[in-house]
Amino acid sequence: MIQRRKSRQIMVGKVAVGGDAPITVQSMTNTKTHDVEGTMAQIRALEEAGADIVRVSCPDVESTQALKAIVQQSNVPIVADIHFHYKRAIEAAQAGAACLRINPGNIGSAARVREVVQAAKDYGCSMRIGVNAGSLEKDLMEKYGEPCPEAMVESALFHANILRDHDFHEFKISVKASDVFLTVAAYTALADAIDCPLHIGVTEAGPLRNGTIKSAIGLGNLLWAGIGDTVRVSLAADPVEEIKVGFDLLKSLGLRHRGVNIIACPSCARQGFNVIDTVAKLEERLAHIAKPMSLSIIGCVVNGPGEALYTDVGFTGGGAGSGMVYLGGKPDHKLSNDGMIDHIVELVEAHAAKL
Ligand code: SF4
Repeated sequence: MIQRRKSRQIMVGKVAVGGDAPITVQSMTNTKTHDVEGTMAQIRALEEAGADIVRVSCPDVESTQALKAIVQQSNVPIVADIHFHYKRAIEAAQAGAACLRINPGNIGSAARVREVVQAAKDYGCSMRIGVNAGSLEKDLMEKYGEPCPEAMVESALFHANILRDHDFHEFKISVKASDVFLTVAAYTALADAIDCPLHIGVTEAGPLRNGTIKSAIGLGNLLWAGIGDTVRVSLAADPVEEIKVGFDLLKSLGLRHRGVNIIACPSCARQGFNVIDTVAKLEERLAHIAKPMSLSIIGCVVNGPGEALYTDVGFTGGGAGSGMVYLGGKPDHKLSNDGMIDHIVELVEAHAAKL
């Protein structure tokens, strides 16, 4: 069992982050935010994939103007990504953003910081301080010479102290780098230095396969050590993939359970049916199921009965164009390879309906 670091809990709209709340999975739209229809279509796709929170960029006033309609239509809390335009932050808070991604030290004068914090308080916004190894403050780069965990933590605490000085405590922090070692070291040090919830991610992790592996190593290490309250996997891919990878990561560590966990063998000459094709089709056909359950699809009796023992529904290939269906770990009935996909989908859907 993973012992999670005890963090303070904050609210991102209706979603709790930190404390004993489930670790949330989030992504970010890559549409033009002022294109409300396009942005909403992407938010819907992210919601269907299970996103708990979605972030949208607000680089200009057209974006913050569109934000109100987006927030009203969205079923998940919306985080407005601001960076340093303090007016955009105030507009986003007024538009109903659940959280502002902004570094208060980058806003400018003390008066501007006060205005942004006041807007966040008035409109019930939390904030995320986002430190990135690639954009550390100039003085820290001069002091440390290069991005390093100490510099990233110092930057994070600098921004956090500004918020605390304004008696604002509803914030979470990220300290991301594209290098997994730097990411893990920075978060590990930050986890010891502050009690706020941590948004974890390996930034700019790369394309789907490479980025998934980097994220699994970096975030996997942190989550295994109990660090991380909300996760964003940054992939140069469809944002829906970020949600799927985020959940798979949490599922692999037993930290969240969502959807059908398919256990499948890699297949070999002993397979009684085409395992790889079958699993690909089942994965697609069962993507709509959110309830947590397990399905084993195993090519032959070498490992099939053993794996089926621990799954809700199982299928093990036989030798003569048919195999055995297992329900609740027990052999239940024979099934011909023809039409097996439809039948297994029906069994899984029926099981999910009972949960
Ligand atoms: S379970 Fe059977 S078919 Fe699958 S990889 Fe093992 S031996 Fe091959």
